[in-house]
Amino acid sequence: MKVGALEAGGTKMVCAIVEVNGRDTWEILDEVSIPTLSPAATLPMLVDYFRGKEIEALGIACFGPIDLHKDSPTYGYITTTPKTGWANCNIVGAFAKELKIPVGFDTDVNGSLLGEATFGCAKGIANSVYITIGTGIGAGVMSNGKLLHGMLHPEAGHVTLKRHEKDADFVCNCPFHDSCFEGLAAGPAIAKRWGKKGVELSDRPEVWEMEAYYIAQALVDYIMVLSPEKIILGGGVMHQPQLLPLIRAEVKKQVNRYIRTSQMEHLEDYIVGASLGDDQGILGACCLAMEAC
Ligand code: ADP
Ligand code: ZN
Repeated sequence: MKVGALEAGGTKMVCAIVEVNGRDTWEILDEVSIPTLSPAATLPMLVDYFRGKEIEALGIACFGPIDLHKDSPTYGYITTTPKTGWANCNIVGAFAKELKIPVGFDTDVNGSLLGEATFGCAKGIANSVYITIGTGIGAGVMSNGKLLHGMLHPEAGHVTLKRHEKDADFVCNCPFHDSCFEGLAAGPAIAKRWGKKGVELSDRPEVWEMEAYYIAQALVDYIMVLSPEKIILGGGVMHQPQLLPLIRAEVKKQVNRYIRTSQMEHLEDYIVGASLGDDQGILGACCLAMEAC
Protein backbone atom coordinates (compact mmCIF):
# COMPACT_ATOMS: atom_id res chain seq x y z
CA MET A 1 0.00 0.00 0.00
CA LYS A 2 1.02 3.61 -0.52
CA VAL A 3 1.04 5.86 2.56
CA GLY A 4 2.10 9.39 3.50
CA ALA A 5 4.62 9.93 6.29
CA LEU A 6 5.24 13.22 8.08
CA GLU A 7 8.07 13.74 10.52
CA ALA A 8 7.00 17.00 12.13
CA GLY A 9 9.93 18.76 13.78
CA GLY A 10 10.46 22.17 15.31
CA THR A 11 12.80 23.28 12.54
CA LYS A 12 11.69 21.20 9.57
CA MET A 13 8.86 19.04 8.34
CA VAL A 14 9.97 15.96 6.43
CA CYS A 15 7.24 14.59 4.16
CA ALA A 16 7.47 11.32 2.29
CA ILE A 17 5.44 8.96 0.18
CA VAL A 18 6.23 5.35 1.03
CA GLU A 19 5.22 2.10 -0.59
CA VAL A 20 5.04 -0.54 2.12
CA ASN A 21 4.62 -4.26 1.80
CA GLY A 22 3.32 -5.22 5.24
CA ARG A 23 6.14 -5.08 7.73
CA ASP A 24 8.69 -6.66 5.41
CA THR A 25 9.80 -4.22 2.78
CA TRP A 26 9.44 -0.55 2.06
CA GLU A 27 10.41 1.95 -0.59
CA ILE A 28 10.54 5.69 -0.07
CA LEU A 29 9.13 6.94 -3.38
CA ASP A 30 9.54 10.64 -2.71
CA GLU A 31 10.72 12.86 0.14
CA VAL A 32 10.78 16.62 0.69
CA SER A 33 11.74 18.86 3.60
CA ILE A 34 9.75 22.02 4.35
CA PRO A 35 10.85 24.57 6.96
CA THR A 36 8.63 24.82 10.05
CA LEU A 37 7.23 28.37 9.96
CA SER A 38 3.81 29.25 11.44
CA PRO A 39 0.97 26.70 11.17
CA ALA A 40 -0.91 29.07 8.86
CA ALA A 41 2.07 29.17 6.47
CA THR A 42 3.27 25.58 6.79
CA LEU A 43 0.18 23.37 7.10
CA PRO A 44 -1.28 24.30 3.68
CA MET A 45 2.09 23.49 2.06
CA LEU A 46 2.11 20.08 3.74
CA VAL A 47 -1.51 19.35 2.77
CA ASP A 48 -0.71 20.38 -0.82
CA TYR A 49 2.24 18.00 -0.88
CA PHE A 50 0.15 14.99 0.19
CA ARG A 51 -2.93 15.88 -1.87
CA GLY A 52 -3.25 13.96 -5.13
CA LYS A 53 -0.55 11.44 -4.22
CA GLU A 54 -3.11 8.62 -3.93
CA ILE A 55 -2.07 7.70 -0.39
CA GLU A 56 -4.36 5.46 1.66
CA ALA A 57 -3.40 6.91 5.05
CA LEU A 58 -1.06 9.43 6.67
CA GLY A 59 1.15 8.95 9.74
CA ILE A 60 2.48 11.88 11.73
CA ALA A 61 5.42 11.58 14.15
CA CYS A 62 5.30 14.93 15.86
CA PHE A 63 7.29 17.17 18.21
CA GLY A 64 5.42 17.75 21.43
CA PRO A 65 3.91 17.84 23.89
CA ILE A 66 0.92 16.43 22.03
CA ASP A 67 -2.48 15.03 23.02
CA LEU A 68 -2.66 11.30 22.27
CA HIS A 69 -5.87 10.48 24.14
CA LYS A 70 -8.36 9.35 21.52
CA ASP A 71 -11.33 10.41 23.69
CA SER A 72 -9.99 13.88 24.46
CA PRO A 73 -11.56 16.93 22.75
CA THR A 74 -8.03 18.03 21.87
CA TYR A 75 -6.82 14.64 20.53
CA GLY A 76 -4.34 15.23 17.72
CA TYR A 77 -3.33 18.68 18.95
CA ILE A 78 0.13 19.98 19.69
CA THR A 79 -0.54 21.32 23.19
CA THR A 80 1.82 23.51 25.22
CA THR A 81 4.88 23.92 23.00
CA PRO A 82 6.89 27.14 23.35
CA LYS A 83 7.33 27.03 19.55
CA THR A 84 5.60 30.23 18.39
CA GLY A 85 2.14 29.70 16.89
CA TRP A 86 2.07 25.91 17.33
CA ALA A 87 0.55 25.69 20.82
CA ASN A 88 -3.04 24.35 20.64
CA CYS A 89 -2.64 23.49 16.96
CA ASN A 90 -4.96 20.76 15.68
CA ILE A 91 -2.41 19.13 13.39
CA VAL A 92 -4.24 15.81 12.92
CA GLY A 93 -7.52 17.64 12.21
CA ALA A 94 -5.89 19.82 9.56
CA PHE A 95 -4.92 16.74 7.52
CA ALA A 96 -7.97 14.59 8.28
CA LYS A 97 -10.30 17.38 7.10
CA GLU A 98 -8.44 18.15 3.88
CA LEU A 99 -7.25 14.68 2.83
CA LYS A 100 -10.18 12.62 4.16
CA ILE A 101 -8.00 9.60 4.93
CA PRO A 102 -7.10 7.90 8.25
CA VAL A 103 -4.36 9.74 10.14
CA GLY A 104 -2.06 8.02 12.67
CA PHE A 105 -0.35 10.19 15.28
CA ASP A 106 2.36 9.81 17.91
CA THR A 107 5.43 11.57 19.29
CA ASP A 108 8.52 12.00 17.10
CA VAL A 109 10.53 9.66 19.34
CA ASN A 110 7.82 7.01 19.53
CA GLY A 111 7.76 7.25 15.73
CA SER A 112 11.50 6.65 15.46
CA LEU A 113 11.24 3.73 17.86
CA LEU A 114 8.35 2.24 15.89
CA GLY A 115 10.48 2.52 12.72
CA GLU A 116 13.35 0.69 14.43
CA ALA A 117 11.00 -1.89 15.98
CA THR A 118 9.31 -2.61 12.64
CA PHE A 119 12.15 -2.45 10.14
CA GLY A 120 15.38 -1.90 12.09
CA CYS A 121 17.52 -3.08 14.97
CA ALA A 122 14.63 -3.53 17.43
CA LYS A 123 12.62 -5.79 15.11
CA GLY A 124 11.04 -8.63 17.07
CA ILE A 125 11.91 -7.06 20.42
CA ALA A 126 8.92 -6.29 22.67
CA ASN A 127 10.59 -3.88 25.11
CA SER A 128 12.82 -1.13 23.79
CA VAL A 129 13.70 2.53 24.19
CA TYR A 130 14.77 5.06 21.56
CA ILE A 131 16.48 8.21 22.77
CA THR A 132 17.26 11.20 20.59
CA ILE A 133 19.97 13.58 21.70
CA GLY A 134 19.82 16.64 19.48
CA THR A 135 18.42 20.14 19.95
CA GLY A 136 16.30 18.55 22.67
CA ILE A 137 16.27 15.14 24.29
CA GLY A 138 13.31 12.77 24.15
CA ALA A 139 12.66 9.08 24.45
CA GLY A 140 10.14 6.73 22.91
CA VAL A 141 9.27 3.62 24.87
CA MET A 142 7.88 0.28 23.70
CA SER A 143 6.57 -1.93 26.46
CA ASN A 144 5.22 -5.42 25.76
CA GLY A 145 5.08 -4.58 22.06
CA LYS A 146 3.09 -1.36 22.50
CA LEU A 147 4.25 2.23 22.42
CA LEU A 148 3.91 3.72 25.89
CA HIS A 149 1.64 6.75 26.23
CA GLY A 150 0.22 6.96 29.74
CA MET A 151 -0.95 10.18 31.36
CA LEU A 152 0.65 12.28 28.57
CA HIS A 153 3.58 10.46 26.98
CA PRO A 154 7.05 9.87 28.35
CA GLU A 155 9.12 13.06 28.76
CA ALA A 156 12.26 11.14 29.57
CA GLY A 157 14.54 13.98 28.47
CA HIS A 158 13.63 15.80 31.65
CA VAL A 159 14.68 13.24 34.26
CA THR A 160 16.79 14.77 37.01
CA LEU A 161 20.49 13.94 36.87
CA LYS A 162 23.26 14.20 39.44
CA ARG A 163 25.95 16.69 38.41
CA HIS A 164 29.32 15.61 37.11
CA GLU A 165 31.93 16.62 39.67
CA LYS A 166 33.39 19.21 37.27
CA ASP A 167 30.00 20.64 36.29
CA ALA A 168 28.60 21.96 39.59
CA ASP A 169 28.45 25.59 38.44
CA PHE A 170 26.90 25.12 35.01
CA VAL A 171 23.49 26.80 34.76
CA CYS A 172 21.14 24.13 33.44
CA ASN A 173 19.83 25.05 29.98
CA CYS A 174 16.24 23.92 30.68
CA PRO A 175 13.88 26.76 31.65
CA PHE A 176 11.86 24.39 33.85
CA HIS A 177 14.51 22.38 35.74
CA ASP A 178 17.85 23.06 37.37
CA SER A 179 19.51 19.71 36.67
CA CYS A 180 17.70 17.73 33.97
CA PHE A 181 19.06 15.51 31.18
CA GLU A 182 18.07 17.85 28.33
CA GLY A 183 19.28 20.94 30.16
CA LEU A 184 22.68 19.35 30.83
CA ALA A 185 23.33 17.21 27.77
CA ALA A 186 21.37 18.29 24.64
CA GLY A 187 23.32 19.97 21.80
CA PRO A 188 22.60 23.54 22.98
CA ALA A 189 23.76 22.68 26.54
CA ILE A 190 27.07 21.37 25.15
CA ALA A 191 27.51 24.59 23.14
CA LYS A 192 26.66 26.75 26.18
CA ARG A 193 29.04 24.90 28.52
CA TRP A 194 32.06 24.69 26.22
CA GLY A 195 31.54 27.81 24.08
CA LYS A 196 31.50 25.90 20.78
CA LYS A 197 29.14 23.56 18.97
CA GLY A 198 29.60 19.84 19.58
CA VAL A 199 30.78 19.26 16.04
CA GLU A 200 33.78 21.55 16.75
CA LEU A 201 34.65 19.77 20.02
CA SER A 202 35.52 16.31 18.68
CA ASP A 203 39.13 16.56 19.89
CA ARG A 204 38.23 17.49 23.49
CA PRO A 205 37.96 14.22 25.48
CA GLU A 206 36.64 15.96 28.61
CA VAL A 207 33.54 17.08 26.67
CA TRP A 208 32.59 13.54 25.69
CA GLU A 209 33.54 12.01 29.03
CA MET A 210 31.08 14.39 30.73
CA GLU A 211 28.45 13.87 28.02
CA ALA A 212 28.72 10.08 28.40
CA TYR A 213 28.43 10.43 32.18
CA TYR A 214 25.09 12.24 31.78
CA ILE A 215 23.71 10.01 29.03
CA ALA A 216 24.66 6.88 30.97
CA GLN A 217 22.95 8.15 34.13
CA ALA A 218 19.71 8.59 32.20
CA LEU A 219 20.08 5.17 30.56
CA VAL A 220 20.62 3.53 33.94
CA ASP A 221 17.37 5.16 35.15
CA TYR A 222 15.53 3.85 32.08
CA ILE A 223 17.07 0.39 32.56
CA MET A 224 16.02 0.24 36.20
CA VAL A 225 12.46 1.47 35.58
CA LEU A 226 11.57 0.02 32.17
CA SER A 227 13.86 -2.99 31.82
CA PRO A 228 14.26 -2.54 28.06
CA GLU A 229 15.80 -5.32 25.97
CA LYS A 230 17.34 -2.85 23.52
CA ILE A 231 18.38 0.80 23.83
CA ILE A 232 18.81 2.84 20.66
CA LEU A 233 20.50 6.24 20.61
CA GLY A 234 19.93 8.74 17.80
CA GLY A 235 20.07 12.49 17.17
CA GLY A 236 22.79 14.90 16.06
CA VAL A 237 24.99 14.65 19.16
CA MET A 238 25.31 10.87 18.64
CA HIS A 239 27.19 11.60 15.40
CA GLN A 240 30.28 11.80 17.64
CA PRO A 241 31.65 8.28 17.14
CA GLN A 242 33.57 8.22 20.44
CA LEU A 243 30.37 8.58 22.48
CA LEU A 244 28.81 5.11 22.23
CA PRO A 245 31.79 3.21 23.72
CA LEU A 246 32.11 5.81 26.49
CA ILE A 247 28.40 5.52 27.28
CA ARG A 248 28.55 1.71 27.43
CA ALA A 249 31.54 1.81 29.77
CA GLU A 250 29.85 4.35 32.02
CA VAL A 251 26.56 2.37 32.11
CA LYS A 252 28.53 -0.69 33.14
CA LYS A 253 30.23 1.27 35.90
CA GLN A 254 27.01 2.83 37.22
CA VAL A 255 24.97 -0.42 37.14
CA ASN A 256 27.87 -1.88 39.11
CA ARG A 257 26.99 -5.54 38.37
CA TYR A 258 23.61 -5.20 40.11
CA ILE A 259 21.84 -6.45 36.97
CA ARG A 260 23.27 -9.66 35.49
CA THR A 261 21.58 -10.43 32.19
CA SER A 262 23.04 -11.47 28.85
CA GLN A 263 22.28 -7.94 27.59
CA MET A 264 24.43 -6.44 30.33
CA GLU A 265 27.23 -8.81 29.33
CA HIS A 266 27.02 -7.66 25.69
CA LEU A 267 26.53 -3.93 25.89
CA GLU A 268 27.71 -3.52 22.28
CA ASP A 269 24.48 -5.26 21.18
CA TYR A 270 22.32 -3.74 23.92
CA ILE A 271 23.12 -0.02 23.63
CA VAL A 272 23.32 0.79 19.94
CA GLY A 273 23.06 3.62 17.42
CA ALA A 274 20.07 4.07 15.11
CA SER A 275 20.08 1.46 12.34
CA LEU A 276 18.01 3.05 9.59
CA GLY A 277 20.26 5.95 8.64
CA ASP A 278 18.12 9.03 9.10
CA ASP A 279 14.96 7.26 7.93
CA GLN A 280 13.72 5.83 11.25
CA GLY A 281 11.36 8.78 11.83
CA ILE A 282 9.82 8.65 8.37
CA LEU A 283 9.50 4.86 8.47
CA GLY A 284 7.91 5.11 11.93
CA ALA A 285 5.41 7.65 10.58
CA CYS A 286 4.71 5.21 7.78
CA CYS A 287 3.93 2.50 10.40
CA LEU A 288 1.62 4.95 12.20
CA ALA A 289 -0.22 5.37 8.88
CA MET A 290 -0.54 1.58 8.47
CA GLU A 291 -1.85 1.26 12.05
CA ALA A 292 -4.47 3.97 11.40
CA CYS A 293 -6.12 1.93 8.62
P1 ADP B 1 16.98 18.25 15.86
O1 ADP B 1 17.13 17.78 17.27
O2 ADP B 1 16.85 19.76 15.79
O3 ADP B 1 15.94 17.53 15.08
P2 ADP B 1 19.58 17.02 15.38
O4 ADP B 1 19.16 15.71 15.89
O5 ADP B 1 20.44 17.06 14.15
O6 ADP B 1 18.33 17.96 15.07
O7 ADP B 1 20.33 17.75 16.56
C1 ADP B 1 20.92 19.01 16.41
C2 ADP B 1 21.89 19.22 17.56
O8 ADP B 1 22.92 18.22 17.48
C3 ADP B 1 22.57 20.58 17.54
O9 ADP B 1 22.63 21.10 18.86
C4 ADP B 1 23.95 20.27 17.00
O10 ADP B 1 24.93 21.15 17.52
C5 ADP B 1 24.20 18.85 17.48
N1 ADP B 1 25.06 18.12 16.53
C6 ADP B 1 24.81 17.89 15.23
N2 ADP B 1 25.84 17.22 14.65
C7 ADP B 1 26.74 17.00 15.64
C8 ADP B 1 28.01 16.33 15.69
N3 ADP B 1 28.56 15.77 14.61
N4 ADP B 1 28.64 16.31 16.87
C9 ADP B 1 28.11 16.87 17.98
N5 ADP B 1 26.93 17.52 17.99
C10 ADP B 1 26.25 17.59 16.84
ZN1 ZN C 1 14.04 19.97 31.88
